[in-house]
Amino acid sequence: MRSHNALAEPAVDRRSERRADAEWLARRLADPASQLTVVWRERSLVFDAHAGDQGPVPGTVAAVEAAGLVEQTEDVVFLGEAEGVAYFSVDLSDREDPLAGPLRGAGRFVELRQVGAAMSGQGGNLLAYARAMATWHRRHRFCGQCGAATASRQAGHLRVCTGCGAEHFPRTDPAVIMLVHTGAAAEDGSCLLGRQASWPPGMFSALAGFVEPGESLESAVAREVREETGISVDAVRYHSSQPWPFPTSIMLGFYATSPGGDVRVDTEELEQAVWATRSELEYALRAREVRLPPPFSIARRLIDDWLRAER
Ligand SMILES: [Zn+2]
Repeated sequence: MRSHNALAEPAVDRRSERRADAEWLARRLADPASQLTVVWRERSLVFDAHAGDQGPVPGTVAAVEAAGLVEQTEDVVFLGEAEGVAYFSVDLSDREDPLAGPLRGAGRFVELRQVGAAMSGQGGNLLAYARAMATWHRRHRFCGQCGAATASRQAGHLRVCTGCGAEHFPRTDPAVIMLVHTGAAAEDGSCLLGRQASWPPGMFSALAGFVEPGESLESAVAREVREETGISVDAVRYHSSQPWPFPTSIMLGFYATSPGGDVRVDTEELEQAVWATRSELEYALRAREVRLPPPFSIARRLIDDWLRAER
């Protein structure tokens, strides 16, 4: 099996069977060994590692502190267990500056996208999980069915409407990201790269888009490629996936083969899209005319694996 994508390596055993066990959860929250991760306004608490070139690690405080941080224990999410330690998370976005108050001296809040590449796969995954749960809770405080307030249940993995009783489960939005190529295994095989106007100069990446309701992943891949570039694809093959809580996605990576053809760019979506052979792309990268997204992203893995012909 290939190595995991960044953010993808499971940090905890989720122990979903314990989410309804109030007694067990209370015991774990009171256990001095249990840990609490903290999310604040889309940012994650991290500690800087003291040793040399190591990246930051998830910042946690003892879970027993939770009682002093949140108004009610329903606001605490049980994430799971790792090596016998229970992990919980809270969202302190309502506070002006937690580091000036209850978390004084506890580390720093960072944008996960900025530090994820330097963190261990599991460390990044823990923060991605906590952040995704925090965003979901914040966006589902009211029932989409009747408008009444919802309340957190099942250790933060369910919100129940106080009006109509509807149950709302955590959700994640599927997005497809695909490297289209001509299928030729030889050196002259080409791939299709695009760039958005807002990107740094010279940056190109794989195409991407959201899956629409009532659509298969394969259809979404073909539709997005056609809409953005006018190119048709004939075969779609799954590569790997990556949690992408920026704010609420999971990225589903694919390779798609295409007979090729002239590119017609949808300028609403892209500034430019081009076919590049392996040798053209390698030359442009060496000459620094073209840059690719950071190794942190699944887009980069799709491109790197294709350059190495691991299709
Ligand atoms: Zn309702």
